[in-house]
Amino acid sequence: MKIAIISGKGGTGKSCITSDFIVQSKATFAIDCDVDAANLYLLFDQKVEKEEHYVSGEYPSIDLDKCRSCGKCVRACHYGALSMVDRKVVLDEVSCEGCELCQRVCPFDAITMVHDHESSIFLGPFKYGYMARARLYPGEENSGKLINELRSQADKLMEHMDFENIIMDGPPGIGCPLISTITGVDLVVIVTEPTRSGIEDLKRVTEVVDGFGIPRTVIINKYDLDSSCSETIEQWCQQQGIIVASKVPFDRQMVDAMLHKKSISEYAPDSDCAKAIKVALEKSLDVGKSLSSERETNNEENADGSADRIENSASKDAEKNVERVHCGNKKSRCNHNINTLNNSIMPNRNGTGPEGQGAGTGRGLGSCGQGNNAQTSGQGLGRGQGLGRGQGGRGQGLGRGQGQGRGQGRGQRRGNQ
Ligand code: SF4
Ligand code: SF4
Repeated sequence: MKIAIISGKGGTGKSCITSDFIVQSKATFAIDCDVDAANLYLLFDQKVEKEEHYVSGEYPSIDLDKCRSCGKCVRACHYGALSMVDRKVVLDEVSCEGCELCQRVCPFDAITMVHDHESSIFLGPFKYGYMARARLYPGEENSGKLINELRSQADKLMEHMDFENIIMDGPPGIGCPLISTITGVDLVVIVTEPTRSGIEDLKRVTEVVDGFGIPRTVIINKYDLDSSCSETIEQWCQQQGIIVASKVPFDRQMVDAMLHKKSISEYAPDSDCAKAIKVALEKSLDVGKSLSSERETNNEENADGSADRIENSASKDAEKNVERVHCGNKKSRCNHNINTLNNSIMPNRNGTGPEGQGAGTGRGLGSCGQGNNAQTSGQGLGRGQGLGRGQGGRGQGLGRGQGQGRGQGRGQRRGNQ
């Protein structure tokens, strides 16, 4: 089972809990998707077998000997990344999108595109299995894309390995890196803490996860620091139909364990904290297994019915109307795209849900980089998953265009096609 452990915010103890899941699972393929600050390897002393460099984009290098200060490149750049100072072209790397236009318009071949700083992917075994992790070069923005690459590399390796569980330490937040992490997983475990921001971020991240229709559980970490706030979280989870897999007490030994480069169940296996995490893992696995098989059954039933008809019609509509534009992500090197339909941003994946729901305003969430061709398949975002939110209910599109409810409002599909 592919499990992603995430949190809406940093500092909830997500990585501590992930490390303990890994230890308690014994044989695991671990993927550290928190590429901005990957640190699982510190705990587990991964033996790096293979390091791959990853170039996320390019930027222009200007040969001042060849440049005649004609200003063509400055005028051509749509992002205001070039300026002329004392008859010299100056590049603002932060604004540059790496689109290469300046190189193309320069009449004197003074511009060459050069590789951005290199990030790296590290693959290798550790004592509880095999680990894939990455290191994003400081200041680079394409962490979602790097996570996609990391996961692709891991997928290839896993074809030749036999691990029952794949455990992914996700990034905090609700943006592109998170979406790249949870796309295609069987279960999401959300770690939260009893604080006001913990509650709010839990709500936001749950909304994203629900957009993908992935089974999820919640762990309330350090729950006893504010019992009343924990109760509020439990009540909210109950209203949303989310199972609280465990409430983990605050334990000073958790900090000591980290200082000794151990997970809590290695350091203090009999502690309440270790026991609570064990319960969380067992319960989450149960939830994941039962909901996954339920989902598969539903998908098979729907696929036999009206799905093909709907898919075909959605596909035709999409082909007619979809235009690809840059998603607005600062670096076009990210390869994100959004689809526009009839001038209103809208995905053709939107709003597919149980029949009768989801009519009305649609809004979509997209994965960066893992998309099959949603323009022609009508499958929604990423690997056929979409979210359509209707006034009368919520429609979640999974796989092959189940149900109806195509939204008509805002939506984005981000895909690396
Ligand atoms: S690569 Fe594109 S964005 Fe960057 S400076 Fe050249 S024209 Fe501007
Ligand atoms: S287009 Fe080429 S020659 Fe003209 S200012 Fe830009 S770099 Fe210099």
